[in-house]
Amino acid sequence: LARLRARLVKSNNALGKGLLVLLSQDKIDDDVWDDIEETLLLADLGTDATTELVDSLRERVKIEGHRDAEGVRSMLREELTKLIDPSMDRSVASDRRGDRPAVVMVVGVNGVGKTTTIGKMARVLVAEDKDVLLGAADTFRAAAAEQLQTWGARVGVPTVRSDVDGADPASVAYEAVKAGIDQEVDVVMVDTAGRLQNKVGLMDELGKIKRVIEKQAEVDEVLLVLDATTGQNGLNQAKVFSEVVNVTGIVLTKLDGTAKGGIVVAIQRRLGVPVKLVGLGEGADDLAPFVVEDFVDALLE
Ligand code: GDP
Repeated sequence: LARLRARLVKSNNALGKGLLVLLSQDKIDDDVWDDIEETLLLADLGTDATTELVDSLRERVKIEGHRDAEGVRSMLREELTKLIDPSMDRSVASDRRGDRPAVVMVVGVNGVGKTTTIGKMARVLVAEDKDVLLGAADTFRAAAAEQLQTWGARVGVPTVRSDVDGADPASVAYEAVKAGIDQEVDVVMVDTAGRLQNKVGLMDELGKIKRVIEKQAEVDEVLLVLDATTGQNGLNQAKVFSEVVNVTGIVLTKLDGTAKGGIVVAIQRRLGVPVKLVGLGEGADDLAPFVVEDFVDALLE
């Protein structure tokens, strides 16, 4: 945990340090406010959130006057926390619903880290003594099912997949959920394909997977995986996916590879859906629940 925290700090240091230095100056004139705005935009906070944050900071500085370093830190802590909204439910469905498992669908563009995230999540759930089953509904790339199964074997959970290349993804998802119900597991996680270049095909496919699963069990969670290093691109992807499926939570991966932690804020605002988990590396333990207070503390470390 300390190691993950250190990575979170590293990825956010530029933003937090910049703000602390700028706001601790004796005189905060328009030039300084411009610099603050630029710092926020550079950290991928997005224009809406940047404007809102700058406005509220300006208002407070005007009313409350100059603050020492500790005062600036606590003001920033309050305002950033408000912006990221600690009241959102960030739990991930992983408990049985009556006589069936929780069903989690994982969506996102190829390469963002879907399969890796499922592997990491499975490991966390196994450590919590939960029975997990994986479904390899990304049947488009032969390697995808293989990779998921490898992760499953690594963390000790079974994977339902098709032996045929290009099998119907919805039928694999159906079989996985059926196996999960029969085997009375706690949670079934379904990996899906993410060929965004074929938007219509993708919409049809994801929609169909969901409908077919729902012949047996509700889909309790649709996690959208986004790569934090892709900035605005990630936001556009988020929009496309949220038009297709009802996204219930975001997993932001590769936060270890960017200094632009502000993307958390921008994505949440765009989708109105909470960031629930963050990926901080390629290893099996490099996944953390998103805790607003920890994130803000890491920003201001
Ligand atoms: P998928 O196509 O969406 O299933 O993506 P993969 O799970 O295959 O991941 C693509 C690449 O991103 C792999 O090399 C992963 O090791 C890497 N990756 C996934 N999550 C993270 C993360 O949080 N941090 C870093 N640095 N790399 C990650």
